[in-house]
Amino acid sequence: MSEQNLQEIASLSRTRKIIKKYNLKLKKSLGQNFLINANILQKIIKAAKVDQTTNVLEIGPGIGALTEYLARTSHQVLAFEIDQRMLPVLTETLNPYKNVTIINQDILKIDLKQEISKFFADHSFKVVANLPYYVTTPIIMHLIKSKLDIEQMVIMIQKEVGERISAKPGSKVYGSLSIAVQYFMKAHIIFAVPKTVFIPKPNVDSVILSLTKHRAPAVLVKNEKAFFYLIKASFAKRRKTLWNNLVYAYGKEQKIQNKLINALESSKIDPKRRAETLTIQEFVTLSNAIFALFSFMWITNL
Ligand code: SAM
Repeated sequence: MSEQNLQEIASLSRTRKIIKKYNLKLKKSLGQNFLINANILQKIIKAAKVDQTTNVLEIGPGIGALTEYLARTSHQVLAFEIDQRMLPVLTETLNPYKNVTIINQDILKIDLKQEISKFFADHSFKVVANLPYYVTTPIIMHLIKSKLDIEQMVIMIQKEVGERISAKPGSKVYGSLSIAVQYFMKAHIIFAVPKTVFIPKPNVDSVILSLTKHRAPAVLVKNEKAFFYLIKASFAKRRKTLWNNLVYAYGKEQKIQNKLINALESSKIDPKRRAETLTIQEFVTLSNAIFALFSFMWITNL
């Protein structure tokens, strides 16, 4: 190993030294499990196909283990870190790299479009991050719903969440999260990550998930609010039929039931099916049919 590699942040000895020097008490509540394995970091960079032209958004740089790899391989890194205590640490650890900007903010509380366009203008960028597990889903949805031009996300997340997001129809874990994410992006797990590559060791297993932009969905959702309401309603009780879940969510009144029957018929979906058997395209078609039959005000008030 070269002298430089020995100095890398992502090693047990360097991480321990930094933690000791700054007297850091790592917060479980902020999902602070730091990567200490260079091999995993190389695999992440390779999976994200980061090169000297890539702009990268990182969430939660911590003490800078992944940020260092991103700084070395990409054009520019913009990172949001919620924990103020990490700022002096990052100033020191990332001092050799001039293409990194750290912002001390909660990623969930910022206007992403506004903040990110300051750095990347309207260029596309990639998200590469070891996400804090307590807010994985809100962060992913926040990024997706921002409508920013995200080319790809390569993110470390809890194994179960990765499996739910990338699940296909018919799978036990296919549900509203799989559909909400896969409507916008293709999802697949790239590799599993053992607990031993972090300090402190987390209680859960991890995976690296890749999300890439679809070229163009076959059928577009006419109203996203109506779509998200439908998928949430459809999976409310997994053991019940689609029909039972829909009536429960939209209402038992005969007038409403008639509209639901119409929407299901025009979408060619058998009401006796369970939500977990419907493809994303079927949900999109059904949502558009419901949206066309119910008034806009009624749907947006749900
Ligand atoms: N990137 C580092 C690594 O791989 O070693 C640290 C990853 S650690 C799993 C998650 C990091 O996200 C922590 O540094 C934590 O303080 C930060 N974090 C937690 N919630 C956040 C939020 N809402 N916005 C920005 N950063 C957050």
